[in-house]
Amino acid sequence: MKIEMTPASIKASAKASAKASAKASAKALVLFDIDGTLLRRAGPHHREALSAAVRKVTGLESTTEGIAVAGMLDRDILATMLRNAGASGALIRRSMPAIVEFAQRTYVRTCPDLRAKVCPGARMLLYKLSRRGVPAGLVTGNLTRIGWKKMERAGLRHYLRFGAFAELARDRAGLVDIALRYARREGWIERGSPVALIGDHPNDIRAAKAHGVRAVAVATGLVGEEELARHSPDLLVPDMRALSLEVLLRP
Ligand SMILES: [Mg+2]
Repeated sequence: MKIEMTPASIKASAKASAKASAKASAKALVLFDIDGTLLRRAGPHHREALSAAVRKVTGLESTTEGIAVAGMLDRDILATMLRNAGASGALIRRSMPAIVEFAQRTYVRTCPDLRAKVCPGARMLLYKLSRRGVPAGLVTGNLTRIGWKKMERAGLRHYLRFGAFAELARDRAGLVDIALRYARREGWIERGSPVALIGDHPNDIRAAKAHGVRAVAVATGLVGEEELARHSPDLLVPDMRALSLEVLLRP
């Protein structure tokens, strides 16, 4: 059967296919680490909440001093603090749920205003992504309520659709996996869609690469550009001001 196309119907179908391809090309995802990436020098409140929780639940005095907390998940930091304070493996396992609960409760009460702690270019990049309709999410070693509280107090909460947090997986690669599954389920990405993970630590680069996600390293944390370069990120920038959506989401 021959289908007659009037100029009006051609126009309509061209419009429809342009719309469809715009929708298809909009499928993308950008994941953000928090500490050293979206925020820097957020203060001692997070560390203090972890110490307070260990003290409250176990009576042990502990500290994050001497622990390379950058790039670590909160539960691993807590386990190391407990071990350093002399706790047995059994005590650590038994007390962890209560410590995690108390640390979050403490942090949401004590978190300061973080609007001045947002890394250069981060707010603008999140704004541009939201205008373009590209979903942004968190992949962070922070416990859930700590991470969301930081975003709220930094004025970034409304840009972020979802997050994968410390207590949801054993390591950062596990968190990336959770984020990807979630985004696929929501229909935000499909096979071949550009997905980027922006982070300030070699652990972020490793976690991205473990899942074929574009690893974008920013030197706004404790790790310098030279050291980050050694882990071969797909992109390395001094800070997010140097990131354009075109480069970030290049198919
Ligand atoms: Mg970080």
